[in-house]
Amino acid sequence: MKILVNADKCQGHARCYAIAPELFDVDDYGQSTVRGDGVVPADLIEKAKLAIANCPEYAIDVLED
Ligand code: SF4
Repeated sequence: MKILVNADKCQGHARCYAIAPELFDVDDYGQSTVRGDGVVPADLIEKAKLAIANCPEYAIDVLED
C-alpha cells in the first residue's frame, strides 16, 4: 500500500497523525504529509486504513493497494 496526502484538501486537523504518527508528519499548522515515500509497511496497513477513514476531508489518497 502507498498513500499520499493531498495538500489541496488537507485542512490540518492532524487526526491522521494522532492515529498513525508512524505514517504521517504534521507541520506547525497541523498540515499533514506522509513520512518517507508513502509506502505503508505491512504491519501498519490497518492503521493507515483507520487514518484514511477518519480524515474528514478525504485528503489521504491511496496510490497503490
Ligand atoms: S486528517 Fe486529513 S485533513 Fe486532517 S491533517 Fe490528516 S490528512 Fe489533513
